[in-house]
Amino acid sequence: MRLVVKVGTSTLAHSTGRLNIKRVEHLCKVLSDIKNSGVELVFVTSGAIGVGQGKLSMKERPSDLPTTQAAAAVGQCELMYTYDKLFGVYNHTVAQVLVTADDIEDENRKDNFMNTMLRLLQLDVIPVINENDSVSAHECVIGDNDTLSGIVAAAVGADLLIILSDVQGLYDSNPFNNPDAKLLRVVEKIGPEHFAAAEGTVSKLGTGGMVTKLMAAEIAVAAGCDMVIANGMNPDVLYDILEGKEVGTKFLSVRQNINREDNYGYNE
Ligand code: GLU
Repeated sequence: MRLVVKVGTSTLAHSTGRLNIKRVEHLCKVLSDIKNSGVELVFVTSGAIGVGQGKLSMKERPSDLPTTQAAAAVGQCELMYTYDKLFGVYNHTVAQVLVTADDIEDENRKDNFMNTMLRLLQLDVIPVINENDSVSAHECVIGDNDTLSGIVAAAVGADLLIILSDVQGLYDSNPFNNPDAKLLRVVEKIGPEHFAAAEGTVSKLGTGGMVTKLMAAEIAVAAGCDMVIANGMNPDVLYDILEGKEVGTKFLSVRQNINREDNYGYNE
């Protein structure tokens, strides 16, 4: 099984922008265990700008491009140092892969990206992917890691994409405005009603919200990859998802819609 896990800034860092050490340690432990069970793992991490902001003791997310890119350069370094160390405890090797929109949109460059990713997986390495925020600007920006994770999941032919965030999943209306909003457990076909319900849900530390998660889901399911959005506050939720428990919101891939199968083979 090939799994892509994307984790957002609000899950990785405190509101100060400093790393949430307890959570990141727990996350790396669970991911290592899942990899040990035979799952091929690709990790899409956010947090470069947020963690850079924290490390540079900036009170707020920078608003100008050069400072944002400088913060990303600092934060990315801190992230990789942390992942290298924490996955290393469990004897796993990580590789940093930073991409820009050009790397995905240009066919030759996309081939290079896919070949590198597949070779890393063959080498039993965990690719850790982020957008190359310190050089991506304006015309060559993907802009959010939800979309990036959908692109990555499609490119590597993943079976499942899990997006861990600070929300429970997709609701039938915006839960910030509507206390009666209901969590949707399964989405078989993404429609305008889902985008309407997702409007206005943006996180403070990261850049995404539910709209970008839906965009990721559209890309993933069209490529035959299921997607789950779940709350990453407790990374053990990854075990529940892989065991087929009802967690967060699950988007069924086109393949799943034809042949419904809920067990990802994690415990087989
Ligand atoms: N690439 C950004 C970062 O690492 C995150 C983008 C997002 O929040 O989706 O800070």
